[in-house]
Amino acid sequence: MRKLIMTAFSLLLFLVSLNAQTPDRHYTVIVSLDGFRWDYPTMYKTPNLDRMGQDGVKAVMLPSFPASTFPNHYTLATGLVPDHNGIINNTFWDAENHRQYSMGDSASRYNPDYYLGEPIWVTAQKQGLKTANMYWVGSDIAIKGTYPTHYRMWNAKPFLTFEQRIDSVLTWLQKPEAERPRLVMLYFEEPDGSGHRNGPVSKETGAVVQHMDSLMGVLRARIESLPFGADINLIVTSDHGMAEISPERVVDMNKYLKPEWCEVVDGRTPTSIFSKAGYRDSIYNALKDVAHIHVWKKEEIPAELNYGSSSRVGDIVVAPELGWQFTDVARNNKGAHGYFPQSPEMQVIFRAIGPDFKKGYTSEGFVNVDIYPLLSYLLQIVPEKTDGKFERIKDILK
Ligand code: AMP
Ligand code: ZN
Ligand code: ZN
Repeated sequence: MRKLIMTAFSLLLFLVSLNAQTPDRHYTVIVSLDGFRWDYPTMYKTPNLDRMGQDGVKAVMLPSFPASTFPNHYTLATGLVPDHNGIINNTFWDAENHRQYSMGDSASRYNPDYYLGEPIWVTAQKQGLKTANMYWVGSDIAIKGTYPTHYRMWNAKPFLTFEQRIDSVLTWLQKPEAERPRLVMLYFEEPDGSGHRNGPVSKETGAVVQHMDSLMGVLRARIESLPFGADINLIVTSDHGMAEISPERVVDMNKYLKPEWCEVVDGRTPTSIFSKAGYRDSIYNALKDVAHIHVWKKEEIPAELNYGSSSRVGDIVVAPELGWQFTDVARNNKGAHGYFPQSPEMQVIFRAIGPDFKKGYTSEGFVNVDIYPLLSYLLQIVPEKTDGKFERIKDILK
């Protein structure tokens, strides 16, 4: 009881600090279209996303470094940059426990110890709200011992089609009020897949982008046709963009590194190297003048990348220039990501409509760590301390 009163009191203080009256608490649906670069709507026909921009807010959002799927979806969920949320890459060497984490390996992916910070669904549920989640990174993992109220395991059979995922969202939203989620999170693995196979600029990726756009039109129409449709905010965004790559732009690090110098070399874009005792300078010196890569000692990584405080980052970090790759990346791919958030090719779409958002507003942009404070505001819950800044994003609100 005492805890409840304290939470209610902090919520009141929080709202007063935002200078907000207590408005109605609405519902929020947030969608991630994996690898949806910010400028796809200028390259391909996206009438539904365009209409969301006209009826609501549009912006270009920066991902966090590295611009890859697991780190950034977990950043969107927690408001913490990958260096602070524990998921510093899609794969990494866990030096403290001498084992490998990989998003593709269920044993490590489902180990909650890797996931630091607090996902928004946990924060919301601690404060009495219900949430629902379809396939967002982290949502089927017992982070802090908690799952979303309604969710589906990524590896449960059958793997749901895009249409089935939208059906599930509608089913959740039509639950009786007591079970109805205030926050719904929904993930699609396209246009990332097509972007990798065909490159960001291709008719195949164009067709997939158009398909995802039409699905967003269906989702919006179905949400708006609910009896309380006017009370639902809809956000469509992404984890990272996509850059063109080529078999001509490849750096073979093995040409420069001696195996006896390195404990572990892992992570592609960027690559973390854990050096053997006494060989750190040898590694650094061997790589520092190689063309088309950046190499840093962990403590010298540029501040704007927010990278290097985690024990999971190697003592040497090597990042290829935009559009360049290391040899172990799939040879026939035409697109890749993982590069610097400051590269326009890595930046992502943001559209938001609904009762809490301005209409016909173009924002100057923000960073994906700001989504957690935005969702906390929309859900009227007290946020955890994060790397996000509500100040940077609040202009998109009414
Ligand atoms: P990548 O392009 O390598 O950064 O990762 C994209 C891939 O991540 C997708 O194609 C999915 O297969 C995978 N993925 C996305 N969300 C999840 C999830 N919640 N659990 C497991 N794998 C996921
Ligand atoms: Zn992705
Ligand atoms: Zn990808």
